[in-house]
Amino acid sequence: MRPTPRIDVDGVSVSPDHFINGERQASSRTFEDRSPLDWSWKLADVARGGEPEADLAVTAALGAFLPWSSLSTEQRGAFLHRLAELIDRDVDQIAHLESLDMAMLEESLRLRVIARGARNFRAYADLARNYASRRWSSNGTQNTVLRMPAGPTVVITPWNAPFMLSTWKCAPALAAGNTVVLKPAEWSPLSCSLLMDLVAEAEFPPGVFNMVQGYGEEVGAALVNDPRVRRISFTGSPETGRSIGEAAAKHLIPFTAELGGKGPFLVFADANLEAAAEKAAVMYDDAGQVCLAGTRLLVESSARSQFVRLFESAAKGHRLGDSRDPTTTISPLIHPDHLARVAGFVERARTNGDAILFGGTVGVAGGLWYQPTLIEPRSNESEIVQREVFGPVLTIQTFEDESDAIRLANSTPYGLSAIIYTGSEARAQRLGERLRAGTIWVNCFLVRDLTAPFGGTGISGVGREGGDYALDFYSDLKTLQIKEGTTHG
Ligand code: NAD
Repeated sequence: MRPTPRIDVDGVSVSPDHFINGERQASSRTFEDRSPLDWSWKLADVARGGEPEADLAVTAALGAFLPWSSLSTEQRGAFLHRLAELIDRDVDQIAHLESLDMAMLEESLRLRVIARGARNFRAYADLARNYASRRWSSNGTQNTVLRMPAGPTVVITPWNAPFMLSTWKCAPALAAGNTVVLKPAEWSPLSCSLLMDLVAEAEFPPGVFNMVQGYGEEVGAALVNDPRVRRISFTGSPETGRSIGEAAAKHLIPFTAELGGKGPFLVFADANLEAAAEKAAVMYDDAGQVCLAGTRLLVESSARSQFVRLFESAAKGHRLGDSRDPTTTISPLIHPDHLARVAGFVERARTNGDAILFGGTVGVAGGLWYQPTLIEPRSNESEIVQREVFGPVLTIQTFEDESDAIRLANSTPYGLSAIIYTGSEARAQRLGERLRAGTIWVNCFLVRDLTAPFGGTGISGVGREGGDYALDFYSDLKTLQIKEGTTHG
């Protein structure tokens, strides 16, 4: 369908359409996109794709695959570097639009999160170029491992940090020589549309990098069920991860899934308790809508009272407000349904006899804010300990010694991240060996090296992305064996 006119969202011009084969395309149906800052504010009517749009996008990605995969890593890298420069140029407007669309703090988007999108493209352009093929001789042959681009790749992302999380997956897929169809989440679809403007400006060949908008169960399901797709990379909830895994299995398509978290935040008595309490209060940032957050505070019993005092005072420093205001630290939740979900968890905890130590109510009448909340559960089996809330709700429990701490830390079905505060490096090493998590931070949080593997265990994920791990996933590895003594000619 012919493109819809671009719209102006608070000074940012954005297309509400898909981006397929290098062109904007509308759909006959649309869905409403509203701002969590003020639910009466409709930002856009966004194209609502279905099977036909999924089919067009995969056809475009398939058509562009051979020429794109035949380019050298240097040639593909040049496109990725150009895109990174354009993201850096437009950081302010991307950050502004995303803060209206999903309510993450604008300053943190501007200074940190959107710039990471540019870093993702640069990092993978360079990693793909510098790949050192593994070579060795055995059984009278010279062996070489080669990477072969896999084919059209579907990337499906969640509503929190949509721009950064999408680039984190699309960058290695493209660098490895694959073509991409991206489907952003329907609750925050707009910043990825700006990314497509930059893809056009960077003059990517048509069909190499496509995007379709719409609901997961419609266009998302159509994409993951298309047998022409050769890789699926998903970030979102474990429930959706399961259904995407089933679709992938049907056509034997390798997939990775970065899923939910319920990370432990361990505080030992030998830690700098002020620093631990300050960092624990950071878990309320972005209204707790962070998969990697350490939402289960596990504190050595001898340090409990001192830690709770320090933590309460740090948590009081939070300020609920508009994401565009730099003094705000807690933004609204993404959607009324999500606010109801978070409130529902707390109400069930109350009914269950878990103690609400502070918070436990909505933040601003008529708005989507929720108060930072701390709950002491009646038991480790309480739902509030065992299930991801994805809101500003933490639990606190105590442990007696290191093995008790490990037992509690490993006692949920999740395994995405863990945070440890301790003054002992030897203890940090011991815990690092025994905690069940994809990423473990000691005396820090969210420090990332893009070459490190990233992912979760248990219901927190399948597979690993990051660095060469991602490039391997987006490639078919093959072994070339040449009999020793084979000569030219
Ligand atoms: P979600 O699973 O509801 O949706 C994620 C995406 O999947 C959306 O784009 C949605 O449209 C799509 N989708 C839904 N059903 C689909 C289907 N049947 N087929 C294909 N696509 C479908 O998740 P969400 O609510 O958007 O995101 C929150 C979740 O994401 C939380 O659990 C959070 O922890 C997790 N998350 C994980 C990471 C990580 O790196 N591990 C990062 C961010 C968020």
